[in-house]
Amino acid sequence: MKLRRRTRTGDRGPSAAWVWWDAVRARRKGPEEIRRRQKARLAELVAYARTHSAYYRELYRGLPERIEDVSLLPVTNKKELMAHFDDVATDPAVTLARVQEFVADPERIGRRFAGKYLVATTAGTTGTRGIFVLDDRYWAVTSGLMGILGAKWLSWRDIVRMIRRGTRFAGVVATGGHFLSIAASTREKQEKPRRHRSLGVFSVHTPLPRLVAQLNSFGPAVLGGYASVLRMLGTEQQAGRLRVHPVLVLSTAEGLPPDERDRLEAAFGAVVREVYGCTESGYTAYGCGEGWLHLLQDWVIVEPVDAGYRPVPPGTVSHTVLFTNLANRVQPIIRYDVGDRVLVRPDSCPCGDPAPAIRVQGRASDVLTFPAADRGGEVTVPPLALGTIVDRTPGVVLFQVVQTAPASLSVRLRPDPDADAEQVRRTVLEGLTKLLAGLGLAHVTVEAAAEPPEQTTGGKYRTVIPLYA
Ligand SMILES: [Zn+2]
Repeated sequence: MKLRRRTRTGDRGPSAAWVWWDAVRARRKGPEEIRRRQKARLAELVAYARTHSAYYRELYRGLPERIEDVSLLPVTNKKELMAHFDDVATDPAVTLARVQEFVADPERIGRRFAGKYLVATTAGTTGTRGIFVLDDRYWAVTSGLMGILGAKWLSWRDIVRMIRRGTRFAGVVATGGHFLSIAASTREKQEKPRRHRSLGVFSVHTPLPRLVAQLNSFGPAVLGGYASVLRMLGTEQQAGRLRVHPVLVLSTAEGLPPDERDRLEAAFGAVVREVYGCTESGYTAYGCGEGWLHLLQDWVIVEPVDAGYRPVPPGTVSHTVLFTNLANRVQPIIRYDVGDRVLVRPDSCPCGDPAPAIRVQGRASDVLTFPAADRGGEVTVPPLALGTIVDRTPGVVLFQVVQTAPASLSVRLRPDPDADAEQVRRTVLEGLTKLLAGLGLAHVTVEAAAEPPEQTTGGKYRTVIPLYA
């Protein structure tokens, strides 16, 4: 077959159409077939990395020649990969000095680095800033898998509605840096004249009334953005200020609680789904109607592990998660510590999808630590425990819990403009105080902050910010 031959020859890698068709065929044959592809792709990636990357050649010295089991490999992380940037890269044209010069220039957002690659930086809310170089394989896989997801989420009627509306896609993205979504969408617009009009790129930093006006005039069939932005837009739609009728609303980063998903579905009259992943890994999992994220095991390996990088069983919340991106070759991401705490569903998901399902429980670095009430010791509180209390409170559009001292919390709130702000504030503070008291933390003070939640430079809202983050 023509499509197939293209992947076997040359360095160009698979096309998006081949990735899509391959994923369709694998799904017809069942989960075993997907895992078979995963193993074969891992063996190929490891062999490639050993041949072309000095860092991986050294790291894997002494290991068996063919690797099909990822757990045989040592773990890496952002700090390591950034510290050994030039050695990690499999293309000698990719050096930190050259990439840094490239990303220092905002005019080059979405241009091809070294004539070939997409470059994306991550804001680095905690610690190291990441610079990632992504090849056409990465992009073909991302686009091909998006086709699979569209077919999973939407009925034929929805798809017809979407095509009729010119498949107009509005992405509300972080601008002002080489972030993945702005870099990728800028490149799409530059390189594919047909996408120029149907792809709308809006800045997450735009004041809300202006953003609402821009979206009203664009009229998207698909609306994508961070969960925090979609939540604000959902409130605007309910209030009648935003008047868009998307077929699909896609939340691309940050968790979207099930209650919020229901609210957005009602507000927009659209299917609301999440994709989970990061710049380094691409799309890793996709949301289902039951509120779980199913893994895209064709092109990524996800390992929930404890603090010693040992696997944790399904039903247990992991300390962190390791990602292996089986698509990108220019800067291999193999057993890479992402820092998210995830829970694997122990039984099969009621939605009927046989792919393993996970839930993301926040980042390991967002766990709060308080001094215990009695002498010595400390009490840790997962971010989700606080988040759900605030989330359940009606009238909260956005929130941010900040630890301002070892035993003090401050809550930044963005109440619904139509809600009684004072009442919302009181309910949130009471809920948090009660939760803390139940955990033996009655000595921890909770106050409402005067300022609203703050965005990171990448345009996200961290819901919990520990003292030493
Ligand atoms: Zn499911």
